[in-house]
Amino acid sequence: GLILGIESSCDETAASVVERGSRTLSSVVASQIATHARFGGVVPELASREHLRAIVPVVRAALAEAGVGFDDLDAIAVTSGPGLAGALLVGISYAKALAFARNLPVIAINHLEGHIHAVLLEERQNAPASTQQDEPALALVVSGGHTHLYLAEPAHEAWHYKLIGRTLDDAAGEAYDKVAKLLGLGYPGGPWIDAIARFGDPKAVPFAFAQIKAKAHLHGKAPRTKAAKTAPIADLDPHFLFSFSGIKTAVLRHVELQGMRAGGDERIAKILAGDRPPKTKEEALALAPQPILDMIASFQHAVVGDLMKKTFAAAESLGATRILVTGGVAANRELRERFAAEAPRRHMRVSFPTPALSTDNAAMIAAAAWPRFVSGEFAASALSAEPSLALGV
Ligand code: ATP
Ligand code: MG
Ligand code: FE
Repeated sequence: GLILGIESSCDETAASVVERGSRTLSSVVASQIATHARFGGVVPELASREHLRAIVPVVRAALAEAGVGFDDLDAIAVTSGPGLAGALLVGISYAKALAFARNLPVIAINHLEGHIHAVLLEERQNAPASTQQDEPALALVVSGGHTHLYLAEPAHEAWHYKLIGRTLDDAAGEAYDKVAKLLGLGYPGGPWIDAIARFGDPKAVPFAFAQIKAKAHLHGKAPRTKAAKTAPIADLDPHFLFSFSGIKTAVLRHVELQGMRAGGDERIAKILAGDRPPKTKEEALALAPQPILDMIASFQHAVVGDLMKKTFAAAESLGATRILVTGGVAANRELRERFAAEAPRRHMRVSFPTPALSTDNAAMIAAAAWPRFVSGEFAASALSAEPSLALGV
């Protein structure tokens, strides 16, 4: 029951060995943050090159950490999409070559299903087997490329997913990254804004999200996100749709109204190379003045509030009493606190992956593969990258 998971969809090269979808023997992640940081975003060509460089040592490290050899493996699970084509291909080609050499089956995994299984893996890991019971859940995948709501239902072979809501434009993580870039904070922006928000007043600036209106407005309007271009939105309840592209402009306007300059080299925050997010109020104030700290706290408060409102509303309307929040933004401190506080008020349960498993990793890929391994759902040898692969449509 040992599965080697491989993940290379974006800017992390990761490998992991997971036993029977419930016990992580190793999880190794090589991040490319340093490579992309000076560009303020992921550069696809550089990503492919870095994956090529990292894949062999990362897999070796995962096997060594797990204390197993290639001969102990039962299958190889690999992310087939969504993601950057060149980046995905590195993982897929490696998985196929290894499978051929060792006569192992390959299991193709949707990266978004992986994020959902990051929570399930940890729940199974922490609960005694006798109490393990999978029930339907409303899953919020909130990351750098997605802000999507799914109804996730355990089924005999593998889980079933139904798309319930999604962003019409930017993902929440993208908004974090863009706002951070605008203010001159570090990359990726999420951890910086998370850290700084603690030292500001979340009620200082009333950032608001307009309710997305009738379905009629959406007909024929294609989503502008990079991933999952094919997912239909006209059929979705507009109450469960998100839009995060406007808040960047709102932040910029607020900055200008405050008489401060933003953008280009005229940055607000005074960050020195190699700096890390601030840990104390003094460090935060050395970066930016109090009104900016307040605005950052208000930005985060508004984003988390919008995610909460729509996620709980969707769970309620579907009769789901269990909520899973996963993806990079699920590492956010305020998000975790507020979801955890709200759930019992609604008679619901909410779970998140540990922060390390919230962002990209391969343990979630190996865990998602387990039910497919059991039912013998293996990839054809023609398996290739599917950059716009959607989930649950
Ligand atoms: P996708 O999963 O949609 O393909 P991705 O794999 O690039 O996208 P992840 O690695 O899951 O996304 O998440 C990265 C995102 O999470 C970035 O936008 C980053 O800013 C955000 N993020 C990371 N930590 C935090 C945090 N503590 N608070 C808010 N956002 C965070
Ligand atoms: Mg990433
Ligand atoms: Fe991801």
